[in-house]
Amino acid sequence: GSADEADEAVRGTCEDASVCKRFAVSVGYWKDPYIQYFVRQAKERKAPEINRGYYARVHGISHLLKAFLKKTECNCQVINLGAGMDTMFWRLKDENLLPRKYFEVDFPTIVTRKIYNIKSKPPLSKPIMESHSGESLLIDAHSLDSCRYSIIGADLRSSSELEEKLKKFNMDTQLPTLLITECVLVYMTPQQSASLLKWAASTFQTAMFINYEQVNMADRFGQIMIENLQRRQCNLAGVEVCWSLESQKERLLLNGWETANAIDMMKVYSSLPQADVKRIEGLEFLDEKELLEQLMQHYCISWASKDSSNLGLETITF
Ligand code: SAM
Repeated sequence: GSADEADEAVRGTCEDASVCKRFAVSVGYWKDPYIQYFVRQAKERKAPEINRGYYARVHGISHLLKAFLKKTECNCQVINLGAGMDTMFWRLKDENLLPRKYFEVDFPTIVTRKIYNIKSKPPLSKPIMESHSGESLLIDAHSLDSCRYSIIGADLRSSSELEEKLKKFNMDTQLPTLLITECVLVYMTPQQSASLLKWAASTFQTAMFINYEQVNMADRFGQIMIENLQRRQCNLAGVEVCWSLESQKERLLLNGWETANAIDMMKVYSSLPQADVKRIEGLEFLDEKELLEQLMQHYCISWASKDSSNLGLETITF
């Protein structure tokens, strides 16, 4: 039916994100030796604005993630919701920054594809083996469970299914927990994303939530972005939360989170150290500064915390 088709289109966005990331990595925006094992090289060059946008996105999320790991001294769990082909597990392992356990959740068909790649490529499977001890390593077509890393197939629109599966894979609700949704909530209705946020806030005592998605979608540029996505049959059920930074923040505060922040990607970009700006602006000539700014003003990072253990999570910022 058409609901299945809409879900299929949403799953297609996973491919897009990783193809773009792989391309930006090949130009030198950031290092990721693992993304090549998950997606093909892009057939055509991506525009410099797009590459810089992905740089800001990847930098923004990893900046907040690393701040959380530092506050918790890696005595925590990370749950990436709608992770697609994300490679953060391997990059954190290389940097000796693995949390106690790293979880990923996505639709079962995406998970099956990810696990197939892991199984067939030693540079992906070896680090998982290395970080594992004991006997219970499980890798079948639909899930992976090791000491430090789990990949779980589930629909994020059902919190009870999500919680049940995470618990089966030894999620510990007492540990400080970071949840990440990178370009995921916009595909759910506002009710569905609200219930996911509420579930997270009520399940963990000490937690942080990081969300990346579109913002300022009510203006002309935003409307064009929406039309482009709809042309690819993507159902942007959650786009009304993307009207403003205020509505992004409000959603977090209304669903059980104690502190919340939201900034657009231009702000994230401006927070970069001068040396990073110099390096990445030297990678490719960019003619249309204005287009880059427009684009960056239409994506945002929002983050929220609740801090029963007084770790100082509310001070995490750019
Ligand atoms: N977070 C990854 C990244 O940024 O590279 C992938 C982003 S991709 C745009 C959106 C991902 O969310 C897809 O992998 C899709 O399958 C997943 N997703 C969307 N809605 C979902 C749902 N209801 N349940 C599980 N996964 C979902």
